[in-house]
Amino acid sequence: MKISFLGAARKVTGSCFHLSAGGLQFLVDCGMHQGHDSDNLNRGSFRFNPKEIEGVFLTHAHIDHTGLIPRLVREGFRGRIITTAATAELSRVMLADSAHIQEMDAQWMTKKARRAGSGITIEPVYTVEDAIAAFPFFDKKQYGEIYALKNGIRYSFSDAGHILGSGTLEIWYRNNPDKKIAFSGDIGKKGNPILQDPRHAAESDYVVMESTYGNRLHKGMDDSIDELVEAVSTTFKRGGNVYIPSFAVGRTQDLLYYFNKLVRDGRLPSPLDIYVDSPLAEEATKVYFSHPELFDEDAKIVFGKKGKKTVRVHYTHAPQDSMKLNRITSGVIVLAGSGMCEGGRIRHHLKHNLWRPECSVVFVGFQARGTLGRAIVDGAKEVYILGDKVAVRSRVYTIGGFSAHADQKELLEWLKLFKNRPEVFIVHGEETAALEFEKQVKEKLGFPTHVPSEGESYDI
Ligand SMILES: [Zn+2]
Repeated sequence: MKISFLGAARKVTGSCFHLSAGGLQFLVDCGMHQGHDSDNLNRGSFRFNPKEIEGVFLTHAHIDHTGLIPRLVREGFRGRIITTAATAELSRVMLADSAHIQEMDAQWMTKKARRAGSGITIEPVYTVEDAIAAFPFFDKKQYGEIYALKNGIRYSFSDAGHILGSGTLEIWYRNNPDKKIAFSGDIGKKGNPILQDPRHAAESDYVVMESTYGNRLHKGMDDSIDELVEAVSTTFKRGGNVYIPSFAVGRTQDLLYYFNKLVRDGRLPSPLDIYVDSPLAEEATKVYFSHPELFDEDAKIVFGKKGKKTVRVHYTHAPQDSMKLNRITSGVIVLAGSGMCEGGRIRHHLKHNLWRPECSVVFVGFQARGTLGRAIVDGAKEVYILGDKVAVRSRVYTIGGFSAHADQKELLEWLKLFKNRPEVFIVHGEETAALEFEKQVKEKLGFPTHVPSEGESYDI
């Protein structure tokens, strides 16, 4: 088998690995690039012919792992997109949303170009129509089953515990003797809310693994939960609302779990009103609740039918309903995207409330440099939102413990469970994180390692 690292090599986004084995070509993930130079990368031509790809394995539904699927299909891919049922369902929701964002962005860029005197029309990376055209190619599989493909290739998914449906993928292929390669996908934390803990097989010849937090340790979960309780209780006492910029898939559902649990445990007032102001989050939450078989025991109890319904979750659809939320001035929690306040409905809420000292803004995710979220977290006294200057008077909390990724210690524990000293390819981490993690693997486990660069290939 030949493996080529086409994305997420010495960086975090654009996951895409190309495999050729038994005369067939496959991809593992086909993700979008985000951040620096991403527009060019997402529009750049593929380094393979989509028509010749037999299948794409998807490890989970986050857009940096699936986001270029509609382009792949538009450019002639006619194979199968092989993944778990929950990933297939979440991918439909997310790809349609991503396509809508591409269309809006292209419209905006075209308008901007015209205003500057240029006659060019910017085409979206892909359209909603392209996304919908990809749906029939999805092939839904179960965790724990071994499936035969062609030419001696077999594969299996096990729960990676990162978001609903996320999988660690094992692929067996013919060699002398036969070999196996495992792809970690993104690895969840042990004790993550809702989901089972990550698990995988005990042996593999090769492992391709993520290293997002390869150089960092997370703060304890209990401290983060105490901080969340404090933020909500004191804000309500002051007569304000709590605003939480939140990623729609994964983080929003995790927060709903914690709020349900905290009310049940008597740590937050009952009933608690939560407004989920994001159509994407609502769709994703529906997919979560349609797969209770994937929940861990705690989640089955917390979201179960038994006991009083003490959390009232309200979903807002139309933009007018979102605007009406501004009339509610106290005693509610509003979850809205985007997670870094760069787009989405959260910006309207911040514009209307960030100047109110009785309110709070709670950040529960990573805020990249240059984003509105980062400016607020870094203590800006005033910010510009949708063209208006807004004073930052609300209380700002940054709670770090809610990451859906394993940290350095947990990544090492995950890898250590392979008993036969596999050869490890470290991907999906900024260069410093990947290299630090490599050092740890060499020192603590003594496994052979590589940190591939983009475009590099290996015969295995
Ligand atoms: Zn992910």
